[in-house]
Amino acid sequence: MRKKIVAGNWKMNMNLQDGIALANEINEAMKADRPNCEVVVCTPFIHLAKVADVLDRNVVALGAENCADKAKGAYTGEVSAEMVKSTGAQYVILGHSERREYYGETAEILKEKVQLALANGLKIIFCCGETLEEREANRQNEVVKAELDGSVFNLTAEEWKNIVLAYEPIWAIGTGKTATSDQAEEMLAYIRSIVAEKYGQAVADETSILYGGSCKASNAPELFSKPNIDGGLIGGASLKCADFKGIIDAWKK
Ligand code: PEP
Repeated sequence: MRKKIVAGNWKMNMNLQDGIALANEINEAMKADRPNCEVVVCTPFIHLAKVADVLDRNVVALGAENCADKAKGAYTGEVSAEMVKSTGAQYVILGHSERREYYGETAEILKEKVQLALANGLKIIFCCGETLEEREANRQNEVVKAELDGSVFNLTAEEWKNIVLAYEPIWAIGTGKTATSDQAEEMLAYIRSIVAEKYGQAVADETSILYGGSCKASNAPELFSKPNIDGGLIGGASLKCADFKGIIDAWKK
């Protein structure tokens, strides 16, 4: 059966001390009340090595929010997939709409990042999703398919085992506006169908596909009750242990 996952994306929030304190709190909360899903905490690069020391990574997995599209060398300010892996991180988020929009990450750049992350033994949470304009024009399926075609559908079935997908409609990220559970389910079913076309039904059935966009404890049970929704990628509500745990606990309902 495919994995259920709740992954936090801290983004550019919290200094190192606050990040360590939150990681510690999440770790203790998960040890005291074991989750029914895989829990992942994705932190800024600067936090990774210290948070790795705090987390029992059999209980809470660690991820980065990005990695470079180059393996190594004179790329001032960049952090390679190898460096991410060396901190003890197991995951990396790639293709987040904020990276695409604010940092010009194209499908080609993301394809390079995906290759380097996999070559360094990282699992990837690969994000896709449409803008409000694209949804209003009913273009969401073609947009999401193009994002997957452009960066991950070139992978082999073996490589695909390390891919988790996250559908994040851009109009729902950080806006308080959640996709309805039916909208999310419809898109995740579509994504699973194109994964099946590409890799076969058995692989599609094993692929974890998450929903992201203003997911919180109050709407997680309804979202997670849908057959194709395997969990969530969580921004704002991952910054407080109680909020994050509230979402994780939705898998117990
Ligand atoms: C995200 O950016 O991945 C996200 C889902 O953010 P939020 O939960 O804050 O909408």
